[in-house]
Amino acid sequence: MSTVVVAMDGPSGSGKSSTARGVAARLGLRYLDTGAQFRALTAWMLDQGVDTASASAVAARAEEPTLESGTDPTAPTIVVDGTDVAERIRTQEVTDHVSAVAAVPEVRARLLRLQREIIGEGGIVVEGRDIGSVVAPDATLKLYLTADPAARALRRTAERGADDAESVAATEVDLLRRDALDSGRATAPAVMPDGALHLDTTPYTLEEVVAQVVDLVHAATGSP
Ligand code: C5P
Repeated sequence: MSTVVVAMDGPSGSGKSSTARGVAARLGLRYLDTGAQFRALTAWMLDQGVDTASASAVAARAEEPTLESGTDPTAPTIVVDGTDVAERIRTQEVTDHVSAVAAVPEVRARLLRLQREIIGEGGIVVEGRDIGSVVAPDATLKLYLTADPAARALRRTAERGADDAESVAATEVDLLRRDALDSGRATAPAVMPDGALHLDTTPYTLEEVVAQVVDLVHAATGSP
């Protein structure tokens, strides 16, 4: 298990984060949330007054802040320029701007270097949009998680403590907007990677999906 790399891609609300954390915890692996890294750079850009709609303005500052990702699946951390931004990165303001920042090639190049450094020799579950396609194309196991847009919106809204129809509908519009931006960008677009197994999580509970993925990791590594 010490060299295993599990690449877990898929849109937001597909169950990817909870599954990746659950699998890493069950198998004693590290966990990397690459979306949190894009969000942290976005939060920093916003705090610096950078116009996130300007790719050149974002590119010019992409290397500036320090960025640290803690990889304990039971307590992942994200720190930018010495500030813990774990809560800040989940705000609607950051969600609204992250896809524009993530489309900037200089941002992706910087984070790609950092992600490969953290992956190192392996022993990790990595989640994102381009892990199996770009970051770790030789991963031991590549998964592509999806779920029906309505189920994704319901999960995301519930995470924020709401369940009214209006909030769910607004969340679905927002998810579909980000899907379109992430899969339409020129650099490392969100795709189902070559060789990835597709898991539709719509009908399953989190525990069921975690169990399925743990079995797939065991099968891929030849362990019992
Ligand atoms: O996974 P999460 O929803 O937190 O990701 C936030 C955003 O970060 C995505 O909408 C996408 O724009 C970007 N992202 C990316 N590549 C990754 C992970 C996230 O472009 N590997």
